[in-house]
This record gives sequence, C-alpha cells and structure tokens, in this order.
Amino acid sequence: MTTTTDNRVALPLLAEPDAYRCNTLDLLADDAIREYWLDVFVDHLPSLCQHVLRAEAHTDDAQARADELARRFGAQLEDLRDRPDQFGELDIIMICRMREKHMRDLNIADPYAPVKAQENAAALELLPDVLAELDAMPDDQRLQALIVGTFAGNKFDLGATSTNKQFDDGGFSFHDARDSIQARPWMIDDFDALAVRWAIGPHRKAIVFVDNAGADVTLGMIPLIREMLRRGTHVVVTANTKPALNDILHDELGPHLKAIAAFDSTIADALNDGRLERIESGNDAPLVNLNQVSPQIAAASQDADLLILEGMGRAIETNLYARFTCDTLKLAMVKEEQLATMLGGNLYDVICKFEAGGSQ
Ligand code: MG
Repeated sequence: MTTTTDNRVALPLLAEPDAYRCNTLDLLADDAIREYWLDVFVDHLPSLCQHVLRAEAHTDDAQARADELARRFGAQLEDLRDRPDQFGELDIIMICRMREKHMRDLNIADPYAPVKAQENAAALELLPDVLAELDAMPDDQRLQALIVGTFAGNKFDLGATSTNKQFDDGGFSFHDARDSIQARPWMIDDFDALAVRWAIGPHRKAIVFVDNAGADVTLGMIPLIREMLRRGTHVVVTANTKPALNDILHDELGPHLKAIAAFDSTIADALNDGRLERIESGNDAPLVNLNQVSPQIAAASQDADLLILEGMGRAIETNLYARFTCDTLKLAMVKEEQLATMLGGNLYDVICKFEAGGSQ
C-alpha cells in the first residue's frame, strides 16, 4: 500500500489520542514567541535557496525557481506576521508544510538530496571506528556513551539556524560534537531511570523515529539500534516518506542500511532475519504529528513496548509533553534559543526524557 497524506492514521501508542496535540508551542498564544519563530524561518530561507540551487543545478531555471521560492515563502511569512490568526491556529508544523507546498508548486523535489547523500557517505566511513570504540567499552558505560552519541549526531542539523551556520562555515567533526555535549545532569535527565529499565532486560519491540541524514542517523542512532538488536529487541526504524529539510527519507534509509550491513554482521543478520525492519512513517515534515502516521507503522506499533523519538523536531517542538502507553525515550539537542529558554537551559543543551509506559 502506498502511504499518502490521505490515508494516515493515529499511532496506536498514544495514551490520550483525543487530547493529543502534537505541537509543543501555540504560536497564537504569545506574540514574542511567534515573532521569534517567524524570524527562524526567514533567517533559514537563504540557506534553503542555496540548497535548491545546488540540487536543481541540472535545470536551466534553477535560479528563477529559487528566487521565486524566496519571494513566495518570504511574502507568506510576512503575511503571517500581519495576520497570524488567518487560519484560526498557527504552529511550527503548519509553517513547515507551507514551505514544502511552495517547493512542490515550483517543482523542487528534494533540495537537500545532494547534501544528504554526501553526509551519509562521510558518516559511513566513520561508523566502523565509532562502533569499535563502543564495543570496547565496559557494559556499564556503553549505554551513556550511546545516548551521548545520539546527542552528538543530532547536532548535525541543516534545519536549525544555529547549527546550519556551522555547517556553512566548514562543518565540524562528530568527535568534536561528542566532546562538546553538556555534562550531566542534562537539561532533562532521566538517564538513571532509563539505565534501571535497561538493566532489567531488553524491550520486546522498539519503534524508532529517526531524524537527520548523515552523522545523526549513522553515528548517533545506528549504534543505539545495533545495541538494542544485540540485546534481542526487535527494532522498527521509521523515517519520513516525503522530503523535509535534511531528514533521512525512508527510501534513502534502505540502501544506507544495506551499506552498513556490508561491514556489520549485527545489522546484516537482523536485516536478514527480520529483527530489523524499515517502515515508512508517512511523515512529510521535520516535526511529526503522531495523529498522522502511515497505516504500516501504526500496525507495526501495536505490540511495541518502546517508542524512541529522536531529534529536536520530533521530541521537543512536537511531542515533548505527549504521553504514550509504552515506555518512551525522547532524545534531542536544543538548537534554538527560544526552546532552551523555555526549558530553563542553554543552546546545545540536551534532553533524555524517559517515561515508563502506563506510569503517567
Ligand atoms: Mg531534522
């Protein structure tokens, strides 16, 4: 079955499906917060247009379409400043979808496709060393190192203005990112509860919503997924069906996992015997509304006892306060000042939010 925006369903793991609102922020509720986020979209637009130019370089009207994208979306953002309540509601995911619609209307398929491929290839080269380092660690240190690795990976984000600038300035290394992670206690720090649950034994089945291509999925999330597989957990990794910034796509994840399987027997064996599944999320945004997922991931979630939401868009901008019927792990780095202030911390602080299923 093909997932479209028309046949999406609610994730059955939502504890309060009727009360669920995906967005953490209501942009109509606070003028200053709305202005902040409209500025984020405005500030990010030139970089997006640069990626459009690169991805569409084979066409003769790439410049014209990039300019038109800047004009149309820029005008819409200004209109939202003047008339924020024109839709009766306003949140970040709505504005992301407006941006995607302008790109679809201009036949801009996936402006980040070239950079995603490049970052996936670069991260793949580093993965064997990262895995060897983790494997050499004592068992009681590995879980924290894996979680820190997901934070470091999540710093590689072309969707956030703070980290985007660092990329444009020549990038930074995964090891530097790892060394720069805030010391514990983290901004939200349920690591001890996670470690206690981890020590009891493996979860039966995990649903893992991944975020960005490159270091994020490859060096952050794959080592955590691999560790769960080694412990005997069935892992379903779920990525976007449609493009959204530099998020890895379901269709990109397939060849990427195969490339990892070529040198890692844990991933290879798990793909072969079905303990590692790849199922499209149905999502089309850098945030995720869990009331709108693919029927396939909804069906696969029925018997899951662990849900992992990774990345600022999926775990903070949406779903931070959402409750689920199974154990839930929310992992992310904060890459926008407003969110850091809201959570009582600083830019680049991290969250490890673990909630036991049914305990809320
Ligand atoms: Mg992302």
